[in-house]
Parts: sequence; structure tokens; C-alpha cells
Amino acid sequence: MIVMKFGGSSVESAAAISRVASIVKARLERRPVVVVSAMGKTTNRLLAIARLAAEGKQSAALSQMEELKTYHLSEASVIVLPEDQPHLLALLDAHFDELGQMVAEIAEVEEFSPRLVDAVSSLGERMSSQVVTLAFRYFGMDAVHLDSRSVVITDSRHTQAAPMFSRTYPRLAEVVPPMAQRQVVVMGGFIGSTQNGITTTLGRGGSDYTASIVGAGIQAEEIQIWTDVDGMLTCDPRIAPGGHLIKTISFAEAAELAYFGAKVLHPATVQPAVEKSIPVLVLNSRRAEISGTRIVRETVQCRNVIKSIACKTDITVVKIQSLRMLMAHGFLRRIFEVFDRYKTPVDMVTTSEVSVSLTIDNTQYLEEICEDLKRIAEVEVEKGRAIVCVVGDNIRGTPGVGRRILGALGGINVYMISQGASQLNFSFVIAADELKQCVRALHEEFFQELDSEVFA
Ligand code: ADP
Ligand code: ASP
Ligand code: MG
Repeated sequence: MIVMKFGGSSVESAAAISRVASIVKARLERRPVVVVSAMGKTTNRLLAIARLAAEGKQSAALSQMEELKTYHLSEASVIVLPEDQPHLLALLDAHFDELGQMVAEIAEVEEFSPRLVDAVSSLGERMSSQVVTLAFRYFGMDAVHLDSRSVVITDSRHTQAAPMFSRTYPRLAEVVPPMAQRQVVVMGGFIGSTQNGITTTLGRGGSDYTASIVGAGIQAEEIQIWTDVDGMLTCDPRIAPGGHLIKTISFAEAAELAYFGAKVLHPATVQPAVEKSIPVLVLNSRRAEISGTRIVRETVQCRNVIKSIACKTDITVVKIQSLRMLMAHGFLRRIFEVFDRYKTPVDMVTTSEVSVSLTIDNTQYLEEICEDLKRIAEVEVEKGRAIVCVVGDNIRGTPGVGRRILGALGGINVYMISQGASQLNFSFVIAADELKQCVRALHEEFFQELDSEVFA
């Protein structure tokens, strides 16, 4: 069995879904289990509709709902068999009726609770997975739909739910292989449910994570992430075009890149795959003939010390200073307790004798955090920063990498640096408006010559 995950742009239209069908059809003998995202930008559109409702703009919400329904119907109806058309209409009616009820509820209470966020945003994958199942039949495959919520069991942290592996893996192992024996199983990514059957989601971009959870649960021989780029590249194409394709990369390097902003993979994706030693491939659904990126357990020997540059924008730096820190102990604990209290992850930390700087990207509780910190220290906040993360297998043990990185930056100011925490990452904070220039400069410094074993 293999797991094949197709992202939003890979299922955004009838034409895109027909490409997906031919990719899957060519791999039937490997018994594919297909995981799909919501069609195109559906998740954003669903959330926008609910937000309009919460702001009391119900008629705008309803008209956007109509548009979204028309989009689904017009793309799907041309790739569904005549005898399946009533089924398609019924399923779209049912899901949009459900959305209508939730929109009314949100408008009434003028509040969009996390539980409702999940209920609303789950509709995208719930519909796309059924549409793709019907489309596979149209393209001559025997396909069967499986509601991911019946097998992916999570905790109840709505919008960021964590899978309960001890319940999810046995269910997957029991349910999926017998189905996949005879049919192509199609599941929605991103969604799950609590033990009590309440719908949850795994966080934005979470369909990649679903694919690796399913892969680990059924002991798949391979997990394929089909997307809109040729694979993992040496830099984010939206920040700096012209990056090179990485043919092979280790789980550790890929995880580091994903964590520090390479959106091509959800940061948690590699974890289940590592545990079960299942290779992950990143492939382009528009250019299926390209061999993409292979993510593997072993370290990948490479003559280039750097494999890729990731970045995260919208970063906020919190600077904390207190003379009480001098020669004291327990101060860092008190600082981190504050971030813990507001469930706010910290990405990077630097310390000196009486000060600590750290970065966060979720600023939902920034005010409360600063209030609490001010009881023990002076606090300053800097917004509009970016983290740049340079990743390579042995950065820590290679002399001269830091000099080359900082040398390439020229006049760009560096606010924080972190190196040595792991073997394979050198990261630093700059002003977000200097990001493009910075990534281009680093790319030029490190990728003039390429190890042809590793890069295409
Ligand atoms: P999908 O909908 O298939 O999940 P995403 O938009 O989530 O696709 O992820 C693919 C995108 O990730 C690419 O279009 C690209 O803009 C972005 N990306 C960021 N960093 C990288 C990188 N290092 N290599 C490849 N793509 C990257
Ligand atoms: N549809 C979800 C999102 O847009 C999950 C995914 O695409 O991976 O975040
Ligand atoms: Mg994605």
C-alpha cells in the first residue's frame, strides 16, 4: 500500500482532478490510499464566510456561500457519471445546508468558537473527498470513500488537535487495508474527531499530517505528497524564485525546514513517518514524470554544506530585561511559564546576562503575556521581523559556515542569532522587509556549485 496526498491546488478544478485520477490510475498495483485537501482555496473561503456571519454581515455570507457551492458543483459535475449526479447534488446540498445552519448560529451568537471553526472548516475536505471518490469512478476506477473522522481520533484542542496515536493506529490498521485490497480508498485530510465524535482539525496545512498518520497506521511502503512544485526546493519560490530541486533529504533536515516555514510540508508530517521508517516523497501533480524529493531516514552525504533556506515572516520579538537576573537562578523558568500559560510556542531564544530575547509567531495573547512579564522584568516588543533558517546536515561541525552566512548578508542587520542547538540549523532574525534580499544573497553564496547527487 502507498498513501498519495493531493493538496488544494491539485484538486482545485475538474482538469486538476482528472490529472490526479490518471496519476492514481497509473499506480493501482501499489494499492493507493488517497488523501485529499479541500478544493482550491475552499478552507479560506469557508472561514471567511463564517467570519462575515460573526460580524453580522449575513447577506454577504450567504452570497459567498452560493458562490462556493456553484464552484463545487460546476467543477465536480463534469467529472461525475450520469448515474452518480443525484448523489453529487445530494451531498453538496447536505453540506451547504449544514454550513447554512452554522452560519445562522454564528450570526445569532455573534461568536465563532474554535469548535465551530473546526465544524465549518472541515466541510472542505468532507466534500472534496466525496467529489474525488465520484470522479475516480468516472475515470474508471473502483473507488470508495472513508470518512477520516471515523479513524483519525484526536484530543479536543480545536483548530490544533493532536492525534491520539494509540487509538488512531489500530483503527486505521483494522479498517483501511481490507478496503484498499479491492478498491481505491479516498479520505479527506486535515479532519478528525474526538472520542466523543466531535469534529476537529489538525491545524492549517494539516492534510500532509493526515497522510503520514494514515501511512504509519497502515504501515504503507511509501507516503507521497503531491503538490504544485517539483519537490522541496533550496528556497521558498514565493520569496526567491530560481531555487533548485533537492532530490534527497533526511527526515531531520526536512522537519527543520518545515518547522521554520517551508510550507510545502506541514511541520508534523515527518514524525509518524520517521517512527515507522516510511520514506516520504514530495511530487508535482502537474509534472508527474519528475522524480521529486525523497525524504529518508539516513543522513544524506552532500558536498554542499547547506541544503535549503527556510523563512517565516510575521515574527514578533519579545525582549525581556531584568537586573534581578544577575547571578540568579530560576528566572528563565518564570519567563517560559508565562508563555506556557498562554499556550504560545516560542521559536527562537537568545540570552545574555540580564536579558532574554525570544520570538513568537502567534500573537493572540501578546498583550496578556507582556502584562504578566512586566511583573518580573522590563519588556519590549518588536514586530515585523522574519526568521531565516539555513539547514544542512552538519552545519554545527563545519568551520566557516557562520562567516559565510553573515558575510553574505552585507548591510542587513541581524537582531538575533541561534546556532548549535541542533547539528543542522543556523537561524537568525532580520527585518521582514529585507527578507527577499537576504534569501537571494544566501542562495547566491551557497548554491553556485551543486552536488549533482543531491540537487537536480
Ligand atoms: P498544497 O496545497 O499542495 O498542500 P502548499 O501551498 O501547502 O501546497 O505547499 C506548497 C507550496 O509551498 C509551494 O507552492 C511553495 O510556494 C511553498 N514552499 C515554501 N518553501 C518551499 C520549499 N523550500 N520548497 C518547495 N516549496 C516551498
Ligand atoms: N485545507 C486545509 C488548509 O487549507 C488543510 C490542507 O490543505 O492541508 O489548511
Ligand atoms: Mg499544504
